[in-house]
Amino acid sequence: MTTADWQRLETSLPAWVSECRGYTAQGKVASYIPELSKAPKDALGITIMSSDGRSVSAGDSELAFTMQSISKVFTLILALMDNGEEAVFRKVGMEPTGDNFNSMLKLELVQPGIPFNPLINAGAITISSLIKGNGSAEKSARILQFFKRLSGNASLAYDSDVYLSESDTGDLNRSMAYLLKDHGVLEGKVDDVLDVYFRHCSIRGTCADLARMALVLANNGSDPLTGEILIPRRYVQIAKTFMTTCGMYNASGEFAIQVGLPAKSGVSGGILALLPGRYGIGVIGPALNAKGNSCAGVRLLETISQEMDWSMF
Ligand code: GLN
Repeated sequence: MTTADWQRLETSLPAWVSECRGYTAQGKVASYIPELSKAPKDALGITIMSSDGRSVSAGDSELAFTMQSISKVFTLILALMDNGEEAVFRKVGMEPTGDNFNSMLKLELVQPGIPFNPLINAGAITISSLIKGNGSAEKSARILQFFKRLSGNASLAYDSDVYLSESDTGDLNRSMAYLLKDHGVLEGKVDDVLDVYFRHCSIRGTCADLARMALVLANNGSDPLTGEILIPRRYVQIAKTFMTTCGMYNASGEFAIQVGLPAKSGVSGGILALLPGRYGIGVIGPALNAKGNSCAGVRLLETISQEMDWSMF
């Protein structure tokens, strides 16, 4: 990006956030995990980091939130690093479902009964079972450590209130896990696998943490500061492809057309997005649209992508 382009981004970002904030009124904060319903409905914030070390934030970018489904991108990568491609894709598929993220429909309807992809809940729970470690505590510790390295934030931690809230109310995920266990897809104890899953969904961060993690993907797996390879390039390619085809749930096609960037959303209202080779982006806007994506967050990414001509397509 030229200096003039970056200056335009820096100057315009606060105005774009203000314009898009109005869309928060059209959404609802998730409440099926009761603790999430405490998030501020009208919040909207963003941080963008560039591969040459520049960073710009606007709105409520300091708000802390749990990563929820955004974490699934990185547990997939860790599972690939732990087991290799072949072993992972014996357990999860590579296709979008067109269903809600927590649907179990296709596990029964389509054979073999493996989850369609690693970003829906059934797929991510399966991925949790593939993380190496001695018991759920060590697996969770390895995941948190990996997230700390990617975000460059050594103080990243779990939100224990959100973790307990989801663990108390996660009956749908629990039933899914038992089904997967019965189908021979999940190995190990269902409760242990779910513990790993609920914990990684409850890792708390800010827009800057998401932007920095996204920047590692934008950099093909290298640390933006040191150049150290944190993720093999092939696994970044797999992650970016899933983000493009399945990252915004069953609104991924529309998002690809309107924004044109690999992205992953979570029910907390976070969105992680990236422009390959150039930017890592973190967005928060807790009010969600009917498909479960941040109402104003999607609108903000549409505005930026269109104004700055960032679509990859
Ligand atoms: N922890 C959430 C769940 O399992 C994650 C879902 C999401 O962010 N879409 O329901």
